[in-house]
Amino acid sequence: MAPLPLPERILAKLAVGDCWEWTGRLAPTGYAYTTWRGRHWLAHRAVYTALVGEIPDGMQIDHLCKNRRCCNPDHLEPVTQQENIRRSASGAHHAAKTACPAGHPYSGPNLRIDPYGRRKCRTCQSAHARKSAARRAERRQELSDGSH
Ligand SMILES: [Zn+2]
Ligand SMILES: [Zn+2]
Repeated sequence: MAPLPLPERILAKLAVGDCWEWTGRLAPTGYAYTTWRGRHWLAHRAVYTALVGEIPDGMQIDHLCKNRRCCNPDHLEPVTQQENIRRSASGAHHAAKTACPAGHPYSGPNLRIDPYGRRKCRTCQSAHARKSAARRAERRQELSDGSH
């Protein structure tokens, strides 16, 4: 394998396994940032550019592994913004959002990640579960009232 044309200080931050996890500081969005060639970069974009090639203008990098701190070029795919938005309509990429639509924080014990990598709000989910349980109980009540 040809030597990676990335500076040591960037390589030193990658924990190379299946995913190449960035071990340095992460932005609040969960993405890694670094400086390279006199510019600020999302770390995975810098690694992709160095190892694979320039990312075409306007293309975004999608994490196939859904691991935002991963910089493994095999897990990265350049996609158009429309495609990225389409893929993230499910919520997997709502990186900039730090709270659920009701304003509960996507952090700490309130944050749940579902099997698809989507972020879920525990407060809303348990409120929802309580409500539907209450509705079911009411319906049972109505049914039993109607039966005599
Ligand atoms: Zn990965
Ligand atoms: Zn919520």
